[in-house]
Amino acid sequence: MKILVQKFGGTSVATPESMKRVREKVLSGLAQGCKVVAVLSARAGETNKLLALAEEWSASPDLAETDALVSTGEQVSVSLFAMMLKDAGIRARSLLAWQIPIVTDDDFGNARIRSIDSAILRDCLAEYDVLVVAGFQGRTADGRITTLGRGGSDTSAVALAAVLNSVECEIYTDVDGVYTTDPNICSTARKMDHIAYEEMLEMASMGAKVLHIRSVEFAKKYKVPVRVRSTFSNDPGTLVTQEDSRMEAVLVSGIAYDKDQARVTLRDLPDIPGTAAAVFGPLSEKGILVDMIVQNTSLDGRTDITFTIPRKDLRQTLEIMEDVAPRTGASEVIHDVSVAKVSAIGVGMRNHSGVAARAFSALTQESINILMISTSEIKITILIQEKYVELAVRILHDAFGLDWDID
Ligand code: ADP
Ligand code: ASP
Ligand code: MG
Repeated sequence: MKILVQKFGGTSVATPESMKRVREKVLSGLAQGCKVVAVLSARAGETNKLLALAEEWSASPDLAETDALVSTGEQVSVSLFAMMLKDAGIRARSLLAWQIPIVTDDDFGNARIRSIDSAILRDCLAEYDVLVVAGFQGRTADGRITTLGRGGSDTSAVALAAVLNSVECEIYTDVDGVYTTDPNICSTARKMDHIAYEEMLEMASMGAKVLHIRSVEFAKKYKVPVRVRSTFSNDPGTLVTQEDSRMEAVLVSGIAYDKDQARVTLRDLPDIPGTAAAVFGPLSEKGILVDMIVQNTSLDGRTDITFTIPRKDLRQTLEIMEDVAPRTGASEVIHDVSVAKVSAIGVGMRNHSGVAARAFSALTQESINILMISTSEIKITILIQEKYVELAVRILHDAFGLDWDID
């Protein structure tokens, strides 16, 4: 039995008209001789509305109950779409994550998939031609509902594609594929035909929300070919796949940006063994992801440590630093929320030098001040003032010639 997993995002399932487009895509999967597993998100805006409701009704929304609440957005989509398929005479049914089950850990709001039992799915596929599965949701081993983090329906789809041996995992969204940068902020962004898993992983980690990070991790680990394409066109989209020599020939493949950043500095700390552990240990215990870190050269045995975190974690980080600062002997803690990071990504960087210098000089020409820098084998990340982020994306896109069509 050939199985095709197709995932449809919020704008694709927003209205009865767009759902009809979705139905066309499902029909094209059936026409290729496949049984189709359609994974759906909540309708556009629905998850935000449900989260706002929790904030409105509760002073401090319980995380497990928040998941029980926000997961209903996907339940609405799958039941409505299964009805529409049945109207068209297609043998279809909806499935929620607990009915499969998709088992996760109990990190409510950001749960990780532990296992998916394919037995019920396979039984259902024998009886139905299309299964409409709620994305974004899971359930713990002891039966509580979880969600996988914002954008997590992509991960539901890729994980299902992996366990069902899907021919490909199609991710349908509101753009034609993965572009060299966000096409909604850079008019010269170019759609890529292919991108390597590793590059896509960096693009997603550095803020390109077109794919959820964990979906790319799954795809890479289980070698699931992922195709990002639009519900609203017939473009073949972008294939996310193994690296090949054509990809290595390109220095930089894409530019990503992330405005969800905050910068924290501990001033005037003693430069002695154990200081960094005392600062970052308590943050990691609370699950706060520290991204860029800079420690200044020590002056008279004292130094400054600066790091970045997601903006939503700032309040908790500052509370932790209130305790850390006196213990480490830091003189003060300062922070800045008007920062953003811009990253240039490409597997071609492995074999080339001078990429960072080119990025710095392009930003300098436009007088954009660089606040922090971090580099890895296939990525350069630069922290700047948030107000310059869109300009910086365009400048770097241009500096690396990404608007040239080289395919
Ligand atoms: P969905 O609701 O279908 O999951 P998302 O809003 O999560 O859609 O992701 C699609 C959006 O990702 C696009 O509308 C685009 O603005 C944004 N995006 C950011 N970076 C990129 C990129 N490099 N290529 C394509 N889209 C990108
Ligand atoms: N509905 C969820 C969200 O808005 C999951 C998703 O769309 O992938 O984050
Ligand atoms: Mg998404």
